[in-house]
Amino acid sequence: MKNSLRALGEFGLIAMIRRSIKNKPSVRVGIGDDAAVLSFTRRKDLLFTTDMLVEGRHFRRDRATPFEIGWKAMAVNVSDIAAMGGLPTAAVVSAGFPKDLSVGFIREIYRGLKAVSRKFGVDLVGGDTNRAETITLSVAMLGEVRRGKAICRSGAKIGDVIFVTGFLGGSVVSGKHLKFTPRVAEARYLARHFKVHAMMDLSDGLGSDIHRLTEASRAGAVISEPGIPVSGVKISTEQALGDGEDFELLFTLSVKDAVRLALARPVAGLQPFHPVGKIVSAKEGVTLETKDMTRRKIRTLGFDHFR
Ligand code: ADP
Ligand code: MG
Repeated sequence: MKNSLRALGEFGLIAMIRRSIKNKPSVRVGIGDDAAVLSFTRRKDLLFTTDMLVEGRHFRRDRATPFEIGWKAMAVNVSDIAAMGGLPTAAVVSAGFPKDLSVGFIREIYRGLKAVSRKFGVDLVGGDTNRAETITLSVAMLGEVRRGKAICRSGAKIGDVIFVTGFLGGSVVSGKHLKFTPRVAEARYLARHFKVHAMMDLSDGLGSDIHRLTEASRAGAVISEPGIPVSGVKISTEQALGDGEDFELLFTLSVKDAVRLALARPVAGLQPFHPVGKIVSAKEGVTLETKDMTRRKIRTLGFDHFR
């Protein structure tokens, strides 16, 4: 149906909202990145993001423990702050609960929320409570980054090497999507030692998110199929590109920095950094280079809430 959300799609809708909004100059980065960047002090910019989990879409009560639901709701926001190269500071939690839900269940959700808060130094400072048909958890989070140093999706340059942290695919089946560790340590290490041109977190799948990064950077990309770090022997390239909910980092470095990263001593406790391709001109589009060196277009695989 024309004019329906199904026809517009999630990304079409966000583009429509974005076109209709004009911000003050103190908004350094508005809609379109993992978090907004706001002018704050002489030394620091503020990061601001929100993410909502809806029962039945992001988790199922029979497959996820309440602790995991709480963990995930907080962790997805920490992941977006990390993707900007920042540190999370404070969060508010808005909750919708069905009225037959047990208090014990809610206590466990909060144990999960607090576990992430404690691990990453995020203060839980408020929220809102409502009755809802299904469990809904919306977290909004603030973070900080050195003034002018937020790493956006838009900074990739032609010739850059594209990297991902960790391993991709199968996150829902393996349960990783409920218990993942946001890559704050990796993002901080990268920001401290390299000039990261562009970065985002992988929520919708590499095959979809690489389009977000290249669109923001007005560039194209070639992903090398043999370079994709699949998360298990049973995970195909299609799954690694399309499954989503990896919550790994996708970032780009100049060739010089890419070589430095490849030669750097691995740091204990950090995920490995895997080169997966390179940034090319926009007119070359986004393609997958297979083992036999043929290229095929990567359609926007990955998740759209309305399709
Ligand atoms: P992420 O997966 O990193 O959280 P999304 O794909 O959800 O990012 O959103 C992309 C961008 O669009 C973000 O900058 C987000 O803040 C913005 N956005 C998403 N939904 C809305 C909305 N309903 N109104 C305004 N901005 C939105
Ligand atoms: Mg994100």
